[in-house]
Amino acid sequence: MTRLARPLDRLRPRYDVVVVGSGYGGGVTASRLARAGKRVAVLERGRELVTGEFPARFPDLRGEMQLTGKRLSLGSPTGLYDVRFGEDMHVLVGCGLGGGSLINAGVALRPDPRVFRDPVWPAEVGADGLIDEGYARAARWVRPARDEAAAERTKFQALGSASAALRQAPVRAPVVVSFAATVNPAGVAQPACTRCGDCCGGCNVGAKNTVALTYLPDAARHGAEIFTHAKVRHVGKAPQGGWQVHFERQDATGDGAGKTGTVAADMVVLAAGTLGSTEILLRSREQGLALSDRLGRSFSANGDIIAFGYGAKLPVNAIGVGHPPKVEGLDVGACVSGQIEIVDDAELANSLTIQEGVLPSALAPILPALFIPNGRLLGALKSLIAGVYKGPFASLQTFFAVSHDTASGRLVLQDDRIALTWPGAQDEPVYRRLDAAVDRLVLGAGPGERDPVVL
Ligand SMILES: Cc1cc2nc3c(=O)[nH]c(=O)nc-3n(C[C@H](O)[C@H](O)[C@H](O)COP(=O)(O)OP(=O)(O)OC[C@H]3O[C@@H](n4cnc5c(N)ncnc54)[C@H](O)[C@@H]3O)c2cc1C
Ligand code: SF4
Repeated sequence: MTRLARPLDRLRPRYDVVVVGSGYGGGVTASRLARAGKRVAVLERGRELVTGEFPARFPDLRGEMQLTGKRLSLGSPTGLYDVRFGEDMHVLVGCGLGGGSLINAGVALRPDPRVFRDPVWPAEVGADGLIDEGYARAARWVRPARDEAAAERTKFQALGSASAALRQAPVRAPVVVSFAATVNPAGVAQPACTRCGDCCGGCNVGAKNTVALTYLPDAARHGAEIFTHAKVRHVGKAPQGGWQVHFERQDATGDGAGKTGTVAADMVVLAAGTLGSTEILLRSREQGLALSDRLGRSFSANGDIIAFGYGAKLPVNAIGVGHPPKVEGLDVGACVSGQIEIVDDAELANSLTIQEGVLPSALAPILPALFIPNGRLLGALKSLIAGVYKGPFASLQTFFAVSHDTASGRLVLQDDRIALTWPGAQDEPVYRRLDAAVDRLVLGAGPGERDPVVL
């Protein structure tokens, strides 16, 4: 497969536009501005992983994890899974060319229109009609689709059997997956999804419509120059006009010259994700750039939780088999096939969506070890012997739930690194509501062990 990134030594001194980050925000910007004839450079801190290079086995994960916290810094700074441990909340983000699209579940939902009526958003966002045009354009590129065969998936059926508890049947979820082989709008050939379930580990088939397979190839085809291993530290006004972008090379070995670099641009677009862009701005402010005192405030976690339930009456089969498949004949489905949508017309905050999810196959060998210490999963030993695709893990349910929180988190710089503080986050009303809803689903699914493990 053709690689998009070029060696960092070929970075020019100046561009019309420097785009920092290569997830959805960066990919769309690079593609559109390159099409508009701008000289564009994309700077991404992570590596380029092409289809077939995503971790397939547990040992592969070692080089792909980066774990940071107050007194913790482990793993490679270019590892694909970037976990930030906080005192009140932990955050997982993607690191690599394509950003979060490489490891997300790819569920493409539109926010409830009431979200943008909240005065925290500029009125134009909800009122000028451009957002609808934006959705339509994005849909042409990432092509959300509902799996025709979703209802045949055991995890969908398990959610269905439990859903009576919430008096709401599941529907097929729109996911950015190619369920049939195609040549996408960027001219990239994509094979059909094999329903291996590994979307959150990284798609080794090439069927997930990631930014790396859509907007970024389009940007490159229109002249954008894409660079990996460039971690932007801060931006400042350039003496000659425009901006100066200061970055740290992640491909340099040893100390000294060559570890840092700069590039100038008429315009800089920060698209390094919520944590990345805020970190760059906070550092830039420390370096003297005048910025709002609201920077870093009102962080929201989207009211998200991931929860596990076990003891379902029906087999769930929600552990990915990967590609090539680790076991034959198990049609797991895309990471999310079905979801329960509960809309509260009177109170937006009470609206929630609960999806059935899949754990990536690379994690499969350690699942028994993860659950045994709590003594939570009876028969886990049987699974160790029989493999996690049989025994109690076949009835392990993973739920992704999305709702609305109060956006009371704060991002600050601590020891030159971004840190999330959110005292009382665990008492947010949304988590009580989601816990209760997941609890009812787990109880509705079967008679076995009932406590959902909520992370
Ligand atoms: C496991 C998981 C599952 C998810 N599932 C869903 C889902 O089903 N549906 C959904 O809508 N959302 C989902 N999300 C969230 C979604 O992926 C993110 O909201 C989305 O990726 C954000 O896009 P972005 O462009 O703002 O940032 P990102 O996609 O995070 O991209 C930012 C990029 O900037 C890079 N970067 C960061 N700092 C720097 C720096 N200093 N210098 C240079 N580069 C930098 C990062 O490496 C990254 O590549 C999920 C996320 C995760 C982690
Ligand atoms: S289910 Fe497998 S093949 Fe399909 S998109 Fe997800 S990772 Fe790719």
